[in-house]
Amino acid sequence: MSPRLRRCLFAAVAAVALAGGSVSARQTALPPAVRAAADGISSEQLAWDVAWLSADAQLGRNTPSPGFDAAADYIAARLARAGLAPAGDAGGFRQHYELHETRVDAESASLTVGDRRFALGRDVALRSFATPLSGPLAVVYVQHGWVIPGRGIDPYAGVDVRGKLVVAHGPRVLPKGVEVGQVGRVVVGAETPFVAAAKRGAAGVLFITQASDLVRWDEVRLAGTVRREMSPEVPSAYAAIPVTSLLMAPQVTDALFAGESLDGQTALRLADRGEFPASFQLKKTVTPHVAVAGRTVMRPFNVVARLDGSDPALKAETVTIAAHLDGAVGTRAVDGDAIYNAADDNASGSAALLAIAEQMAKAPRPKRTIVFVWDSGEEQGLWGVRWFVHQPPVPLRSIVAHINVDMIGASRVTTPPDPTTKPVTARNEVYVLGPKVLSAKVEALLGSVNDSYLKTRFNHDADTPESEFFYPRTDAGPFLERGILSVGFTTGNHARYHLPSDEARFLDPVQMHFLSRTIFASLWALADVTERPAIDRPMPASVPSYK
Ligand SMILES: [Zn+2]
Repeated sequence: MSPRLRRCLFAAVAAVALAGGSVSARQTALPPAVRAAADGISSEQLAWDVAWLSADAQLGRNTPSPGFDAAADYIAARLARAGLAPAGDAGGFRQHYELHETRVDAESASLTVGDRRFALGRDVALRSFATPLSGPLAVVYVQHGWVIPGRGIDPYAGVDVRGKLVVAHGPRVLPKGVEVGQVGRVVVGAETPFVAAAKRGAAGVLFITQASDLVRWDEVRLAGTVRREMSPEVPSAYAAIPVTSLLMAPQVTDALFAGESLDGQTALRLADRGEFPASFQLKKTVTPHVAVAGRTVMRPFNVVARLDGSDPALKAETVTIAAHLDGAVGTRAVDGDAIYNAADDNASGSAALLAIAEQMAKAPRPKRTIVFVWDSGEEQGLWGVRWFVHQPPVPLRSIVAHINVDMIGASRVTTPPDPTTKPVTARNEVYVLGPKVLSAKVEALLGSVNDSYLKTRFNHDADTPESEFFYPRTDAGPFLERGILSVGFTTGNHARYHLPSDEARFLDPVQMHFLSRTIFASLWALADVTERPAIDRPMPASVPSYK
């Protein structure tokens, strides 16, 4: 444990002790009538729902797909029957957003240097596609392309890249002795070459390809020709790469640098050394050709419902709770099975959220309004949640706390430990993500409510700023990026994650039953506590702000 972390934990303990005085005991125990509503969650119904949502017929609920639509209809029909109010578009449960799928014309895509035309799929590959490219364009060498303000590293200083191509080693080559902190896929304290080039107005990026990409050229050479992104894009660390970039095979690098102050063979070896000449504009121009072959506009959606609060003043405040309804649908058959059922990830959370919503409609109403969200596109860029925070059905400022439920169906009873990750939890144990990092008072509140009910073991091992499960690998990310207190519940990762074998028969219905009721209690407590739940610790530096 690092010294910094030890100080944090000590501070958390002290703050909990202080907070004890301001949160009354009455508020922190679950009232009997609320408890009765939570107890109404049925393990049989949960088991049935998770099996239905993850059945082969739904084909993993890809975004968008008929299977997702069927799952959404299944949930919306039950919500209507339970008396929840629709909170989607035009009085319905569906909250749509526009998704643009853009396909590059792979046949014609190329990069021409002098009189040599280098074709896509042979000599160049698309690392990312954002906008079409045509030439001729000037080219500026920008070393590794990373901007790291804390180290005074800025290879764009003194060169003008606006409207030009930049050429950089990479995309993950850094100066010698420099490391960039990365939590999951989120980079901390640095701008990637993609972001840095886009911010400075570059038209595109050419990469002097790293050996690690060259050895798998057959895999990368025709990848990246389809871009799917919401329109309008909603700012987030999860947004699609903002610039078109090409990987160059060594023969292209050679041609590009022929006759320049840096020759191709030297350029190819610089990545290993980690030492780079100053940035400069090349003498020659090049002609990229990356055109669009077709564009399809789709309209995926979230399922959104609300229950208004009971307190005349506090009902203007909201607690949101979300589970992504979509699954990660792969294309590869494994052991003869090509259906990615996505049962634990995340039919389990979706079924739990449905049970919680149905019983919450029968419970004594908490003071605050609750908005329930079954979001889409989580597995492809957090589309649904990004759209939700962009166009929420309640004012964003009114959201005092958010709960994220993702993968709560596994337990050690049904899932052997996977040495590559933290073990899944025992029965009636759950990883809780957020309160220890963000709020001593909320941690105390949820802890005491839980003590008054099922005494689920709250495992805080991943409730640290350094844990990738706290911010970058969670659907709650867009909420955190907007400064909203977020609490996540998960039973953890396992060997069936994102594989066709993530099937309902491997889940533990006893676990889902415990955790659905426990999350119900946490949700009710956050929605009813008199003092507004709030972040009372600094937001970790790994969470960018998009307020
Ligand atoms: Zn998930």
